[in-house]
Amino acid sequence: MSTPSPERSDLRSLSRSEVDALVVRLGEKPYRARQIFRWLHQKGAASFEEMSDLPAALRARLAGETRLVTLERAEERRSSDGTIKWTWRTEDGKLVESVYMPEPGRKTLCVSTQAGCAVGCTFCMTGTMGLVRNLTSGEIVDQVARVNRRLLELGEGAPPRPLTNLVFMGMGEPLHNYASVKAALDVLLSEDGPNFSNRHVTVSTSGIVPEMRRFGEETDVKLAVSLNATTDEVRDVLMPLNRRWPLGVLLAACRDFPMKRGRRITFEYVMLGGVNDSDEDAERLSRLVRGIPAKVNLIPYNENPGLGYRAPASGRVEAFRDRLLAANVTAVVRRNRGADIAAACGQLAAEGGPGDPRRRPRGGIGPGGTGPLTDGRPTG
Ligand code: SAH
Ligand code: SF4
Repeated sequence: MSTPSPERSDLRSLSRSEVDALVVRLGEKPYRARQIFRWLHQKGAASFEEMSDLPAALRARLAGETRLVTLERAEERRSSDGTIKWTWRTEDGKLVESVYMPEPGRKTLCVSTQAGCAVGCTFCMTGTMGLVRNLTSGEIVDQVARVNRRLLELGEGAPPRPLTNLVFMGMGEPLHNYASVKAALDVLLSEDGPNFSNRHVTVSTSGIVPEMRRFGEETDVKLAVSLNATTDEVRDVLMPLNRRWPLGVLLAACRDFPMKRGRRITFEYVMLGGVNDSDEDAERLSRLVRGIPAKVNLIPYNENPGLGYRAPASGRVEAFRDRLLAANVTAVVRRNRGADIAAACGQLAAEGGPGDPRRRPRGGIGPGGTGPLTDGRPTG
């Protein structure tokens, strides 16, 4: 894995206190730090020139001492249901994706934390890529900045920031990129940044047990855990990391998780037809989460060609949910979003990039990648 290591640091990846220190080092008045931080993270400035209320001399010095790394919009696809998926190109040419999901009263962005993912879940498109590299904190927060700007351009939502909620459920395993995710959260929750509420930000992990406690101690955002199976036998096959941290160990970590008052852990459960969707699974699941303040999100599988798994049969998801409810487990079915643009959970693989099985044209979805932006009509 290689993360670019330029000599001049990326201004967008600096913490607030690092920007403070930089401003002092440049001999500027302290309030300049706040101005710069707001330009970066509230207004999403893509160049030093945009920072119009900074003296030209300061802008020149910033440009000399630092760099400003901005994601390039490689593709934008809009779904018939309002979902928008963006593919971004990083400075070194890697492709990552973010997905916007509008709902009444809430506008959520699903952000990526890595290009690819090392966990290798056998049902997940991102998992088939392996890890390409960790995203920097600047690249994580810039997904939010770019999308806020773009949504304002599209007339979706009001200034200063259309997005209300963030989920770290795009490409990558957040706890495999702990430092950048933590730094990104600090920026995203800060008052001079986009100022998201901790209750409106959820980080999802496949269950990297050794990092979970620390994450709970060092952040106050919500945690989601991808459970996806109720026996080690099945979870070993779906999620190879289960051999390292089996269900018993993972659920013990959930029980020990330093939970904030009134919070619950969300357990994600991808339902795979004939694999983990039986009545017995529902019974076992309700026993597994017993005693943990929990909510179960049932996600009907979005089929990925070539991975060999199917969506559950019709009616299965509801029957499964009803068994959980009968056992007093809070359970909701997560509606599939953006399936017509391959933006749904686990379909993110920077489509059109090398090694993407979906690159072959199929069923009305042409090869993606670096083509022109769609015209807003549904593509599916
Ligand atoms: N790596 C983290 C976060 C990103 S994956 C994690 O695994 O939790 C976000 C969610 O999408 C996970 O719960 C994962 O199980 C689910 N998922 C992956 N592929 C899917 C697919 N094809 N259909 C439905 N959900 C999927
Ligand atoms: Fe990685 Fe999550 Fe996909 Fe598993 S489900 S391969 S952890 S992104």
